[in-house]
Amino acid sequence: MGIQWNKNNLDKMSAAQRKWAAANPDKVKELNRKKYIARRERYLEKRRVYVLENQDQVKAYQKSYAASAHGKLVRNNAEHRRRAKIKQTEDAATNAEVQALMTQATNCAYCDGDFDLFRRRSLDHVRPLSKGGAHKLENLTVACGPCNSKKGAKLQYSAEFT
Ligand SMILES: [Zn+2]
Repeated sequence: MGIQWNKNNLDKMSAAQRKWAAANPDKVKELNRKKYIARRERYLEKRRVYVLENQDQVKAYQKSYAASAHGKLVRNNAEHRRRAKIKQTEDAATNAEVQALMTQATNCAYCDGDFDLFRRRSLDHVRPLSKGGAHKLENLTVACGPCNSKKGAKLQYSAEFT
Protein backbone atom coordinates (compact mmCIF):
# COMPACT_ATOMS: atom_id res chain seq x y z
CA MET A 1 0.00 0.00 0.00
CA GLY A 2 2.86 2.29 0.95
CA ILE A 3 4.49 1.99 -2.43
CA GLN A 4 1.19 2.55 -4.20
CA TRP A 5 0.50 5.63 -2.12
CA ASN A 6 3.96 7.05 -2.85
CA LYS A 7 3.48 6.44 -6.51
CA ASN A 8 0.09 8.13 -6.57
CA ASN A 9 1.47 10.99 -4.55
CA LEU A 10 4.39 11.38 -6.94
CA ASP A 11 2.05 11.37 -9.89
CA LYS A 12 -0.10 13.97 -8.21
CA MET A 13 2.92 16.05 -7.35
CA SER A 14 4.37 15.97 -10.78
CA ALA A 15 0.98 16.83 -12.23
CA ALA A 16 0.77 19.75 -9.82
CA GLN A 17 4.30 20.74 -10.70
CA ARG A 18 3.53 20.54 -14.38
CA LYS A 19 0.48 22.73 -13.85
CA TRP A 20 2.53 25.18 -11.79
CA ALA A 21 5.26 25.24 -14.40
CA ALA A 22 2.77 25.92 -17.19
CA ALA A 23 1.27 28.77 -15.17
CA ASN A 24 4.64 30.25 -14.17
CA PRO A 25 6.97 30.18 -17.18
CA ASP A 26 9.04 33.06 -15.80
CA LYS A 27 9.59 31.34 -12.47
CA VAL A 28 10.58 28.15 -14.27
CA LYS A 29 13.05 30.12 -16.33
CA GLU A 30 14.45 31.71 -13.19
CA LEU A 31 14.80 28.34 -11.47
CA ASN A 32 16.54 26.85 -14.48
CA ARG A 33 18.85 29.82 -14.62
CA LYS A 34 19.75 29.41 -10.94
CA LYS A 35 20.38 25.71 -11.47
CA TYR A 36 22.55 26.50 -14.45
CA ILE A 37 24.58 29.05 -12.50
CA ALA A 38 25.03 26.70 -9.56
CA ARG A 39 26.19 23.92 -11.89
CA ARG A 40 28.50 26.27 -13.69
CA GLU A 41 29.98 27.48 -10.39
CA ARG A 42 30.57 23.94 -9.18
CA TYR A 43 32.27 23.16 -12.47
CA LEU A 44 34.48 26.26 -12.34
CA GLU A 45 35.43 25.57 -8.73
CA LYS A 46 36.37 22.00 -9.61
CA ARG A 47 38.46 23.23 -12.52
CA ARG A 48 40.04 25.87 -10.32
CA VAL A 49 41.07 23.27 -7.74
CA TYR A 50 42.40 21.04 -10.49
CA VAL A 51 44.44 23.85 -12.03
CA LEU A 52 45.88 24.84 -8.66
CA GLU A 53 46.73 21.25 -7.76
CA ASN A 54 48.32 20.56 -11.14
CA GLN A 55 50.13 23.81 -11.78
CA ASP A 56 53.10 22.25 -13.56
CA GLN A 57 51.00 20.22 -16.00
CA VAL A 58 48.70 23.15 -16.65
CA LYS A 59 51.60 25.52 -17.25
CA ALA A 60 53.19 22.98 -19.61
CA TYR A 61 49.88 22.58 -21.45
CA GLN A 62 49.36 26.34 -21.77
CA LYS A 63 52.90 26.72 -23.05
CA SER A 64 52.58 23.94 -25.60
CA TYR A 65 49.19 25.23 -26.79
CA ALA A 66 50.59 28.74 -27.17
CA ALA A 67 53.47 27.33 -29.21
CA SER A 68 51.24 25.15 -31.39
CA ALA A 69 50.21 26.24 -34.87
CA HIS A 70 46.60 26.64 -33.76
CA GLY A 71 47.54 28.60 -30.66
CA LYS A 72 49.68 30.96 -32.72
CA LEU A 73 47.00 31.44 -35.34
CA VAL A 74 44.33 32.23 -32.76
CA ARG A 75 46.63 34.66 -30.99
CA ASN A 76 47.79 36.37 -34.18
CA ASN A 77 44.29 36.82 -35.51
CA ALA A 78 43.01 38.24 -32.26
CA GLU A 79 46.02 40.51 -31.90
CA HIS A 80 45.69 41.76 -35.43
CA ARG A 81 42.04 42.69 -35.02
CA ARG A 82 42.68 44.32 -31.67
CA ARG A 83 45.60 46.37 -32.89
CA ALA A 84 43.64 47.58 -35.90
CA LYS A 85 40.87 48.84 -33.60
CA ILE A 86 43.23 50.34 -31.05
CA LYS A 87 44.99 52.26 -33.82
CA GLN A 88 41.72 54.02 -34.66
CA THR A 89 41.38 55.27 -31.09
CA GLU A 90 42.54 58.78 -30.39
CA ASP A 91 44.45 59.14 -27.11
CA ALA A 92 44.53 55.37 -26.71
CA ALA A 93 45.88 54.18 -23.38
CA THR A 94 49.62 53.69 -23.59
CA ASN A 95 51.24 50.34 -22.95
CA ALA A 96 52.74 51.74 -19.74
CA GLU A 97 49.30 52.83 -18.51
CA VAL A 98 47.83 49.45 -19.32
CA GLN A 99 50.74 47.71 -17.64
CA ALA A 100 50.23 49.79 -14.50
CA LEU A 101 46.50 49.02 -14.48
CA MET A 102 47.22 45.31 -14.83
CA THR A 103 49.88 45.13 -12.11
CA GLN A 104 47.83 47.17 -9.63
CA ALA A 105 44.77 44.96 -9.95
CA THR A 106 44.56 42.28 -7.31
CA ASN A 107 41.01 41.04 -7.90
CA CYS A 108 38.84 40.35 -10.90
CA ALA A 109 36.53 43.26 -11.67
CA TYR A 110 33.59 40.87 -12.15
CA CYS A 111 33.86 37.91 -9.80
CA ASP A 112 36.17 39.68 -7.33
CA GLY A 113 38.32 36.53 -7.21
CA ASP A 114 42.00 36.87 -6.38
CA PHE A 115 44.18 36.49 -9.41
CA ASP A 116 46.12 33.24 -9.58
CA LEU A 117 47.10 30.67 -12.16
CA PHE A 118 43.45 29.89 -12.88
CA ARG A 119 42.13 33.43 -12.59
CA ARG A 120 44.79 35.03 -14.66
CA ARG A 121 44.77 38.76 -15.22
CA SER A 122 43.39 39.83 -18.54
CA LEU A 123 42.62 43.27 -19.83
CA ASP A 124 38.92 43.85 -20.37
CA HIS A 125 37.30 46.53 -22.46
CA VAL A 126 34.14 47.33 -20.48
CA ARG A 127 32.51 48.31 -23.75
CA PRO A 128 34.11 45.83 -26.15
CA LEU A 129 36.31 47.07 -28.96
CA SER A 130 34.00 45.21 -31.33
CA LYS A 131 31.06 47.28 -30.04
CA GLY A 132 32.83 50.58 -30.51
CA GLY A 133 34.45 50.73 -27.07
CA ALA A 134 37.67 52.70 -26.89
CA HIS A 135 41.07 51.52 -25.82
CA LYS A 136 41.16 54.21 -23.15
CA LEU A 137 41.74 53.91 -19.44
CA GLU A 138 38.14 54.82 -18.56
CA ASN A 139 36.99 51.86 -20.65
CA LEU A 140 39.56 49.43 -19.34
CA THR A 141 39.39 47.09 -16.39
CA VAL A 142 41.16 43.94 -15.32
CA ALA A 143 39.20 40.71 -15.25
CA CYS A 144 40.16 37.12 -14.73
CA GLY A 145 40.45 34.91 -17.79
CA PRO A 146 37.25 32.93 -17.08
CA CYS A 147 35.15 36.09 -16.60
CA ASN A 148 36.69 37.83 -19.56
CA SER A 149 36.06 34.94 -21.91
CA LYS A 150 32.51 34.58 -20.61
CA LYS A 151 31.86 38.26 -21.10
CA GLY A 152 33.28 38.06 -24.60
CA ALA A 153 31.87 40.77 -26.81
CA LYS A 154 28.81 41.33 -24.65
CA LEU A 155 28.18 44.80 -23.32
CA GLN A 156 27.61 43.75 -19.76
CA TYR A 157 28.93 41.00 -17.65
CA SER A 158 26.09 38.99 -16.19
CA ALA A 159 25.92 36.09 -13.79
CA GLU A 160 24.07 34.23 -16.51
CA PHE A 161 27.26 33.52 -18.29
CA THR A 162 29.57 32.95 -15.35
ZN1 LIG B 1 36.51 36.79 -12.65
